[in-house]
Amino acid sequence: MSHDMPKGRRIYEGKAKVLFEGPEDGTLVQYFKDDTTAFNAGKHEIMSGKGILNLRISEFIFAELEKIGVPTHFIETISPRQQLIRAAEIIPLEVVMRNIAAGSLVKRLGLTEGDALPRPLVEFYYKDDALGDPLISEDHIAVFNLCSAEELAEIVTLAKKINQRMVEMFADVGIRLVDFKLEFGRVKSDDGTRIVLADEISPDSCRLWDIDSNEKMDKDRFRQNLGGMVDAYQQVAERLGLMSDIEEA
Ligand code: UDP
Repeated sequence: MSHDMPKGRRIYEGKAKVLFEGPEDGTLVQYFKDDTTAFNAGKHEIMSGKGILNLRISEFIFAELEKIGVPTHFIETISPRQQLIRAAEIIPLEVVMRNIAAGSLVKRLGLTEGDALPRPLVEFYYKDDALGDPLISEDHIAVFNLCSAEELAEIVTLAKKINQRMVEMFADVGIRLVDFKLEFGRVKSDDGTRIVLADEISPDSCRLWDIDSNEKMDKDRFRQNLGGMVDAYQQVAERLGLMSDIEEA
């Protein structure tokens, strides 16, 4: 890895990011790697420069979401690969929002990729790599107490609000937001525990298609061996107006 590494103790290493102890209690440093995985890490490659692009794209989206009142774990960017974040207790759910049929939904229900859905669809997956992140229902969440009913209601409200804003944000730059994955966590403060948006939102976790050509601008380029994955992520950053920051970094 590069010299741009956090000083603190390494707390957790995921597939695309590493978490380090932050400078103050209740903070962590989230380090974005170039590692790219798919099929539950069955496919793995280093894609040079990907981490820097994902950090900047995710930072931009989180900032836009904060503006409309979505609480997030993001505090500040420290370096091209490092973000200071609030430590959150991650709720073991992958919340997927879908606008257009693609990926596992197409396979599971025999749909055609590209079919518009009548309205945005919210799905929950149990976050467990060993089990391959199985699809679960609201009742599984309740029975196995993955979060409280109040927390789940808050998560669904936030996920729909996030989807609405992100659809607009990407449509403004000629990109169709097909689907994406969100993670939420609990942050403790003096007035109790609140739900925040955590992890990242980047072309690793979204499906993004060019509005005119339907060309894929996301991790499906890697999953489906289409090539040009980093160039596509760079195009997403470029359209969002973020490339000048990245070139200066
Ligand atoms: N996704 C993700 N991490 C996962 C699984 C899915 O970020 O572990 C994202 C994926 O990039 C896509 C959306 O969630 O934008 C829906 O993924 P899907 O269920 O279709 O699964 P996939 O086809 O990616 O296996």
